[in-house]
Amino acid sequence: MAFKVYLSPSNQPDNTYNGVNTNERDNCRAIANLLKEELVFCGIEVKVGLNGSSNVTESNAFKPNLHIPIHTNAFNKKARGTSVMVYSKDKNNMKYAEPVFNALKGIVLKQDPGRGISVRTDLKELNATVSTAVYIEVDFHDVKEVAVWLTTQQSLIAKTIAKAICKAAGITYKDKDEKKDNTNGNNNNSVSKPEYYAYNFGTQPNLAVYLIKLLLNNYGYKLDENGYIGSGTENALKDIFNKMNFKYDTKDGKVLINERACKAIADYVFNKK
Ligand SMILES: [Zn+2]
Repeated sequence: MAFKVYLSPSNQPDNTYNGVNTNERDNCRAIANLLKEELVFCGIEVKVGLNGSSNVTESNAFKPNLHIPIHTNAFNKKARGTSVMVYSKDKNNMKYAEPVFNALKGIVLKQDPGRGISVRTDLKELNATVSTAVYIEVDFHDVKEVAVWLTTQQSLIAKTIAKAICKAAGITYKDKDEKKDNTNGNNNNSVSKPEYYAYNFGTQPNLAVYLIKLLLNNYGYKLDENGYIGSGTENALKDIFNKMNFKYDTKDGKVLINERACKAIADYVFNKK
């Protein structure tokens, strides 16, 4: 019988995101739907609950191996990082809570010390669910930078949780997007150089992107110094390329950070400053 997971995303539309036109319900549902696709691709049976607190009843009837509430957090517009809650630190709960927490901790932009796995006996999704339950608070949506990250990195968040669940359940994780990528390029057997795209939404932070952003900041732009790309970086790239009269390559309408583009920016920044 297939391993079964019930995903219970937040049903809190009033919890609005800081600086991004969305809310906890909509963004958590989006993450849950992506996570469902990931898990189903790995052979897991998944149900996504859309009924808020009555998700518990639906989950108990579904009898999953694992019940996962997915939320984003809010506190004082300063607190940062991921946390996971369990009913008790029983080994069945920790079997899933630990890998999920560690995996998310590995992708968030900043993790406050001391934030981790905590016991909550007062939450219905933990005390009234019959299956093992791991309650996820991905990160804090009341922090602007995090709100952007939570909305632009939905796919990365989903893949990260999926990998952790698969690992804990002893199921081989298969990346549903890997096949797509391989069939895009030419299919000869030569080792191709990696291409860096100016949109890496949904992927791991990228070193080339990080270095490009350092170069741009050195030239006077004010970009967050990390390996992620959002509209700010995209606009800064277009701006500097226009100043340089450099005809950049594009991919799906976005600036392509390839070897040519990196070299041009480095030459320009170092020679003309
Ligand atoms: Zn919530």
